[in-house]
Amino acid sequence: MVYAFFISHWLLCVFFQSFFQHRYAAHRMYTMGPRTERVMHLLTYLVQGSSYLSPRAYAILHRQHHAYSDTEKDPHSPHYYRDVLRMMLFTKTRYEAYVHEREQPEPRFLGGYPEWNLVDRTLARSWPMTFVWIGLYTAFYVAFATAWWQFLLLPIHFLMGPVHGAIVNWCGHKYGYRNFPSSDRSRNTLPLEFLTMGELFQNNHHRFCMSPNFAARRWEVDPTWQVMRVLAWLGVIQIATPQRAVYPDPRPQHAGEPTHVEGQTA
Ligand SMILES: [Zn+2]
Ligand SMILES: [Zn+2]
Repeated sequence: MVYAFFISHWLLCVFFQSFFQHRYAAHRMYTMGPRTERVMHLLTYLVQGSSYLSPRAYAILHRQHHAYSDTEKDPHSPHYYRDVLRMMLFTKTRYEAYVHEREQPEPRFLGGYPEWNLVDRTLARSWPMTFVWIGLYTAFYVAFATAWWQFLLLPIHFLMGPVHGAIVNWCGHKYGYRNFPSSDRSRNTLPLEFLTMGELFQNNHHRFCMSPNFAARRWEVDPTWQVMRVLAWLGVIQIATPQRAVYPDPRPQHAGEPTHVEGQTA
């Protein structure tokens, strides 16, 4: 029971991060009606709970990551930090500066992401709500755990969003294979991408950053894209970008190819 909860929470959290914060808020790869957007926004909060990430701050940091990939201005390049913890602490500081609007980014990184004060300010920034989430995860373990060491999994539930961010941002620019040469150091870490729902196809995604399918080769599988295809077929979302990742690269010399923040609507 505990394992089923852990695996479902892991996969759902990373799915909503990929589907809502990444492909919708940061890249605007698809559109949906205002009511559907609210439902998805609320579902993202309910699934991510204590580790919910503001779509606005996520989009700003992520657009900076595409614009300045693996340079000093990249908010989370593994090549500028001694270990993953230092990288994540730095990213957290930047993230909080945008959440609390202590810092303003370049105007080109602003706009086009969903904003909902009730969720993003009132609920997500409330300490009592954070304790409610932590209490709920703990209560589940108290009810169903069958060995003491299973409780060691609890902190991962509390910090699920940052844990996924650490894995994707660290491994995705450090370990794995490259399909496309690029100035950044992005890599595809896992050809069968169920652990992070497609997010570790970083090399494909940096080359075709407006492709809603992060898989490029025949044997690569991007689970989030498979869900999106079903949602589009059902009419829940409308895919807004014609770009698709393809291998081999039809235009290996892609100087001048826009590499960031296309899809931004502001
Ligand atoms: Zn990347
Ligand atoms: Zn991206």
